[in-house]
Amino acid sequence: MLLVISGGITLGILPFAILRMMQQDWAIAAMNLGIVLGTSFVFIHLLITKNAKVARGTIAVLTILAMSTTIFLKGAENVHWVYPALTTTFFLLSPKRAAWLTSVFLLLVIGMIWTQVDFLYLLTFTISAGATFLFSFAFSKRMHKQAIFLEHLATTDALTGVGNRRRLEEKLLEITRKIRRYPQQTCSLVFFDLDYFKRINDTHGHGCGDLVLQRFAEVMTSNIRDVDSFYRLGGEEFVLVLENTDLFAAKALAKKLGAQVERTKWHLDELKITTSAGIAQYDPKESSYDWMQRADEALYRAKDAGRNRFITSNDYSTS
Ligand code: GH3
Ligand code: MG
Ligand code: MG
Repeated sequence: MLLVISGGITLGILPFAILRMMQQDWAIAAMNLGIVLGTSFVFIHLLITKNAKVARGTIAVLTILAMSTTIFLKGAENVHWVYPALTTTFFLLSPKRAAWLTSVFLLLVIGMIWTQVDFLYLLTFTISAGATFLFSFAFSKRMHKQAIFLEHLATTDALTGVGNRRRLEEKLLEITRKIRRYPQQTCSLVFFDLDYFKRINDTHGHGCGDLVLQRFAEVMTSNIRDVDSFYRLGGEEFVLVLENTDLFAAKALAKKLGAQVERTKWHLDELKITTSAGIAQYDPKESSYDWMQRADEALYRAKDAGRNRFITSNDYSTS
C-alpha cells in the first residue's frame, strides 16, 4: 500500500516538476522536485528495508511540508489543502504524533494567512480545520486501540493466555536480527513438552487436560524473569525464550522449572506431571527456523532418552 502511494506520488508529481521548470516557476518546481526526491527515497527505502514506519513518517512530513509551501507561495486561496493534509497525517501516523505535527501545521497556516483574509474567514477556517483535527484525532485513537486489541488477540493463545506461535515467530525474528548485529549477545530457546499428556486426556477427559495446560502456563510464567518470554507452540508444547542466557544457564533454568512442575499440586491429587525439554542457543549463522529445529531435535532426544530429561543441542553428537 505504502509502496503504491510513494511510487504513485513520484510518478504523478514528476511531470508537474518538469512542467514548472519549463515555465520557469522555480519555487514550485523546487517543491515538486523535493516531493519527487522524498517519495523516491521512501519507495527505495521501503523496498530494501520493508520498514513501514520510516515510510509513513516521511510521507506525512512531506505532505505537511508540501501543503505549507503551497499556501506560503500561492496564498490563502489554497487553504483548502489543509483538510486532506490533516486526514492523511492522521492516517499515516500514531494519534499522538499526528496531533503534534498537525497542531504545528495549523498554527503555521493560520500565521501565514492571518494578514491575507478577513476575520470572519479566519474564524470559519479555524473552526472547520479544528473540527477536522478533533474528529481525525478521535477516529485515529479508536482505530489505534482496535489495532492493538486485534494484534493482541491474533498473537495470544486463547486457552492459556500466553503468546502463540505467531508472537513467538515475531520475537525470534527480532532477536535473530539483533544478535546478527551484536554477535556477543546470547539467547537460548527451551522447547518444553508435557510427558504422556495424551494419557491425562484419555483417563480424565479433555477438560482436565485443558486445566493442566492452563496451570502449567501459570507455573511457568510465574517462575521466569520479566525479560524472559513464554509461548504455546500448539498442543502441549511450549517455548521459553531466554535472552542474554547461554546454553548452560538455560539448561539449569529448564531443570529448575521442570522440578517446579513436578512439585506442582494439580486440581486432581492423583496427577503427577513431568516435562521434557530441548535447549538450543542461537548461532548467528542460522535462521530462526533452523534454531527452532535444533531445539526440537534436542526435545526429541529428551523424549527418546526416557522423558523427564533436559537435553541441549550440545549433549549429543549430530554426526
Ligand atoms: P509424549 O510424552 O511423547 O510427549 O506423549 P504425549 O502423550 O504427551 O504426546 P502426544 O503427542 O502423543 O499427545 C499429545 C496430546 O495432546 C494429544 C492431543 O489430543 C492433546 N492436546 C493437544 N491440544 C490440546 C488441548 O488444547 N487440550 C487438551 N486437553 N489436549 C490437547
Ligand atoms: Mg507430550
Ligand atoms: Mg507433543
